[in-house]
Amino acid sequence: MITSPDQRLDALRGSAPRKRHDARTLAALENNPRCALRAVLDASGSDKAAIAAHAGYPTPFGQSRFAIVRGNMFEAMVKADGCAELLRVLRETLELTLPEVGYQDLNDVGGDGSNQTRHARTAQLLTAAARGDGTDTLYDHPMLRLVVGGHSVFLEPDLVAFRIGDRFHVVEIKSFPIVDGQAAPAQVRSATTQACAYIIALRAMLAEAGVGPGAVSETIVLVAPKDFTNRPTGAFVDARKQVATLTRQLARIERISDLVDLLPEGLTFDLAADDTGRPQRPAHELAEALDQVPATYFPDCLSHCEMAFFCRSRARDGSSLDVLGPAVREPLGGLDTATMALGLARGTLTPADDQVEMATALRHAARLRAELLDLPGAAGAAS
Ligand code: SF4
Repeated sequence: MITSPDQRLDALRGSAPRKRHDARTLAALENNPRCALRAVLDASGSDKAAIAAHAGYPTPFGQSRFAIVRGNMFEAMVKADGCAELLRVLRETLELTLPEVGYQDLNDVGGDGSNQTRHARTAQLLTAAARGDGTDTLYDHPMLRLVVGGHSVFLEPDLVAFRIGDRFHVVEIKSFPIVDGQAAPAQVRSATTQACAYIIALRAMLAEAGVGPGAVSETIVLVAPKDFTNRPTGAFVDARKQVATLTRQLARIERISDLVDLLPEGLTFDLAADDTGRPQRPAHELAEALDQVPATYFPDCLSHCEMAFFCRSRARDGSSLDVLGPAVREPLGGLDTATMALGLARGTLTPADDQVEMATALRHAARLRAELLDLPGAAGAAS
């Protein structure tokens, strides 16, 4: 009989190898903190992309090859010649005073590129810097580590800049453009949440050496192409709210046993792959297993979660208001489905005591819509 939380999580994943988190998957946790399905899939290390595909809802997900190549080229250009372009951005665009600059390349340590060695060297250098020893300012590709649900995750920021006001700042180098001082909000949010994982990991590393969280700023330096050129520009991004949300989500993974205890005994997302790796489990059976765990779909899931097409189909089947996003769901608080909202708006559903006000507002909105569209029955909607 399975008892420990780790055994339950292993059973949920089944025979598949554990998928490890990275900064991108950690950042995605911040986007839908209420979702129990995502929480158990992530905590169990399940392969969400494979599960969604076998359930019949493959989701094209992740960066395109073109975007990855472009991102790597832009990052190399920003860091060329000892980060000359980056220093220009920090000094000219962001008006930072960086009188002396020491550069540390942490992509390997004397030719050793293993995560463990790079992490040990990163911890040694950054801890010394936080204590006021050393003259380094820029740390290129430091290796950080975070324990997520009892498992170590190595994380690799583009760069950590030190001594901006005596605090570490995470620098995110992205290839999407900043046009007239503005970048696409979704892309900025995605870059920021990724940087939040680095901030939390950096704080955890320094905490082991007794250095307080104040040594790491929650303001991120975003470096991206200016307008439609390849010339880098920079912006400060306040990440306080996202750091707090991601910290709560990581704590939730540590407490995952509370959630797992509520799941039916014997539940598993195992694909029952054969020797060639081909799943043998009937797709409908897998979908039924997934349906046992509450999911809180909303449109942003399409940008952040491999399960999005599966969950969207479920939300639509149930006519859940979640599928319409928070802009619709939140003003209709207390109503669960579009069927219920339409019934109140049309007057075909009698409102409960606590829905009377909402029903009046919905009928009013329906009447206005009908009048604007000159629909027959506008008067009926008003009654
Ligand atoms: S797509 Fe589904 S599993 Fe993923 S976060 Fe959204 S609701 Fe949760």
